Amino acid sequence: MGKRSRSWRSGAHPDDVELGCGGTLALLSRRGRRIGILDLTRGEAGTRGTPETRATEAAESARILGALFRDGLDLGDGNLRTDRAAELEVIDVIRRRRPRLVFAPLAVDRHPDHVRASRLVTDAAFYAGLRTLETGRAPHRPQQVVYYPSTFLAEPTFLVDVTEVLQVKLAAVRAFKSQFFDPASTEPATFISSPEFLDGVTARARAFGRLANAGAAEGFVSPRPPLLADPLAAFDGFETGY
Ligand SMILES: [Zn+2]
Repeated sequence: MGKRSRSWRSGAHPDDVELGCGGTLALLSRRGRRIGILDLTRGEAGTRGTPETRATEAAESARILGALFRDGLDLGDGNLRTDRAAELEVIDVIRRRRPRLVFAPLAVDRHPDHVRASRLVTDAAFYAGLRTLETGRAPHRPQQVVYYPSTFLAEPTFLVDVTEVLQVKLAAVRAFKSQFFDPASTEPATFISSPEFLDGVTARARAFGRLANAGAAEGFVSPRPPLLADPLAAFDGFETGY
C-alpha cells in the first residue's frame, strides 16, 4: 500500500471550499486520499449567521466531505490581511500539515478577500519550502497550487469528474444553513441566499461536465498543465457525443 497523498484546500471564508471544489474533495477522500481544509477567516463579516454558527456548520460540512482536519485562521473577513505576519501563519499551517497539492481561490473574482487569499496562499506555499526560513518546523513545498473559480469564471486548465459525488458536494454546501437558502430564515437576503444561487452551483457543475462528457465536473486553473498518463482515457466517451 503506497503512501496516501495529501491534498489541502484553502478558502478565505468558511463555505468557499465547498462551493469551489467540494466535489473534488469528496471524491479524493472517498478514494483514500487524505484531505484537509484551511479557512483563512472566521466569516465574521457575513450578513447572515455568526462566526459561532459558521464554525458549527463548517465542522458538519468537513464531516460530510471526509476531511481529516479543518484548520481556521483569523486573518480578517472583509479586509483579509496579507502582511508578513499573516503569511507566516499560513506557512506554519503548510509546514505542519505538509500538503502535496493545494487548492486556492482564483485570483480574478468579485470578492477582494478571494483575490487576496489567492496571492497569500500562493506565496506562502512557495516560501514554506525555503530552508533558510526558520520557523521551528521543517520546510515543505507543495507540488503545485491550483485555483478554483468562485463567482467569476475562467477557462479551466483541467476538469475533475464529480458526477458520483455531486449530491455530497451539495449536502456540504447546504450544511452552511445560515448562508444559503432557507425558507424559514428571517435574516436579510444576500447574494448567496436565494434558491437560484444553489441552482447555479448545480448548473455550473453540469455545464463543466458537458465540456468533458461527464454528468458533473469542477473546473480548475493551473499555471502548469497536469500531465496526462493516458490521453485516450482522458477523452473516453467523447466519440458517442455526436
Ligand atoms: Zn468567500
